[in-house]
Amino acid sequence: MKSNKENFDAIVIGSGIGGLVTASQLAAKGAEVLVLEKYIIPGGSGGSFKRKGYTFDVGASMIFGFGDKGYTNLLTRALKDINEKCETIPDPVQLEYHLPNNFRISVDKNYDQFINKLSKIFPKEKEGIKKFYDTCASVFKCLDSMPLLSIEDPSYLFKVFFKSPLSCLGLARWLPVNAGDVARKFIKDPELLKFIDIECFCWSVMPALKTPMINAGMVFTDRHAGGINYPKGGVGKIAEKLVSGMEKLGSKIRYKANVTEILLKDEKAVGVKLSNGEEIYSNIIVSNSTRWDTFGLNDKKKGLIASKNVPKSEYKWSQTYKPSPSFVSIHLGVEKNLISNNINCHHIIVENWEELESEKGVIFVSIPTLLDSSLAPDGKHIVHAFTPSSISEWEGLSRKDYLEKKEKYFSFLIEKISTILPNLEDNIDHKEIGTPKTHKKFLGRFEGSYGPIPSQKLLGLLPMPFNTTKIKNLYCVGDSCFPGQGLNAVAFSGYACAHKIGSKLNINSFKLPD
Ligand SMILES: Cc1cc2nc3c(=O)[nH]c(=O)nc-3n(C[C@H](O)[C@H](O)[C@H](O)COP(=O)(O)OP(=O)(O)OC[C@H]3O[C@@H](n4cnc5c(N)ncnc54)[C@H](O)[C@@H]3O)c2cc1C
Repeated sequence: MKSNKENFDAIVIGSGIGGLVTASQLAAKGAEVLVLEKYIIPGGSGGSFKRKGYTFDVGASMIFGFGDKGYTNLLTRALKDINEKCETIPDPVQLEYHLPNNFRISVDKNYDQFINKLSKIFPKEKEGIKKFYDTCASVFKCLDSMPLLSIEDPSYLFKVFFKSPLSCLGLARWLPVNAGDVARKFIKDPELLKFIDIECFCWSVMPALKTPMINAGMVFTDRHAGGINYPKGGVGKIAEKLVSGMEKLGSKIRYKANVTEILLKDEKAVGVKLSNGEEIYSNIIVSNSTRWDTFGLNDKKKGLIASKNVPKSEYKWSQTYKPSPSFVSIHLGVEKNLISNNINCHHIIVENWEELESEKGVIFVSIPTLLDSSLAPDGKHIVHAFTPSSISEWEGLSRKDYLEKKEKYFSFLIEKISTILPNLEDNIDHKEIGTPKTHKKFLGRFEGSYGPIPSQKLLGLLPMPFNTTKIKNLYCVGDSCFPGQGLNAVAFSGYACAHKIGSKLNINSFKLPD
């Protein structure tokens, strides 16, 4: 079956936020794009699914990038560029930590309030705390003062350097640096350094010494600048609106469209083949599938590119970065009276610092109905919790053992969350349990991984690849590209990818965005 009746300027494989920002940005520039999504809803890890009157977020629910000033508010910008907008609900607190030795602290939107609180817990480190977080703010200031497009495009680099030379030099300085090294310059207290570790781990799944300073600067400051804002109706609204905006501009999305191969001719990407045998052609192919899945960078699974054509640089990348563990996630509908309105929306529980990077070492809990009650039926709340888990824990089990193990993890999570929400077990109206296998199957992600993490300590973000690949006309976008995981980060990757393609198609505006 060959289908090439419609001539698309680009095909995007996958409708994660990285793929959709690429597609919608290209649509905004006048290109016609076809997005092929193997699942039945858009958004990937940033989607939402509905069950029995509940709207559950698949993964992400602490959303950065919805501010209204500067250049780092990439989700606001991506929607605006295609004439869409998400109504958002500001969260006064990013999250509350429940840490060993009764160390409890919440991160307020107000920067000084948070710094003062932390300084009261570590009075001897007052100056170091301020210096560390102020340094993060200086990184953010550089990012926020320049339009964020493709670093691979020389004309953009020239223009942006002309517009904001000091910011560019500032960023270049921080690119090879990790947050833990900066923290150690200013802070000596081992427990406070552990706190900086969990501050990084909760979004990078790495301790501070392996977390790039650029990302830390972004996260540790944007939460106080643009703030954390929840999209009304669920996180999936972002993807739905990106889809509807790009469709209004003439681009298309097809669901249940599983790409099994990227077609090459004369060493150039020329099209894709779907699992039903259909072939669709375009001069530009963008993969929002992870690099492991795109290039089959492991023995177990064939990638979308035939192994004889996989560039050596991709194998090198897979030695530099390894897949982080996946998660066991539970999505609960619970009785409303279980939860007081004064409790914060997002929580992190760590019982033992030594277990930070271990299976089940950290527990993430979100109660998004505290911000948007429309996500659950009347009289109910949603509790979404997850803990790191490797796929190796779940492979080779009989059906019976698999189901038993799921229930054991469920009981483990309920017991731990009950320290914040007592009597949880007796108040559950609906439950869903997802394992690394579920993440792998429904998100199409290698080993169900959250994303790439350094195999050893690296020079900050320097080794992270951009969007072009060594295969002509093939681009990658999403969390296995610069600058990594998180909705705002993959939106950055999408902006950069569309800009790079736009310069090839000659459809970029000459002017940098306002
Ligand atoms: C449990 C969890 C919690 C998280 N919490 C947060 C949070 O609070 N805040 C935050 O900012 N980030 C969070 N993240 C991270 C964030 O969700 C991801 O980094 C981001 O959504 C990844 O986007 P992506 O563009 O790389 O694509 P993905 O989300 O991986 O989507 C890729 C899409 O491509 C499709 N696809 C793959 N292969 C094919 C193929 N061959 N053919 C067709 N379609 C294909 C998939 O079905 C999927 O829809 C969380 C992630 C998880 C898993």
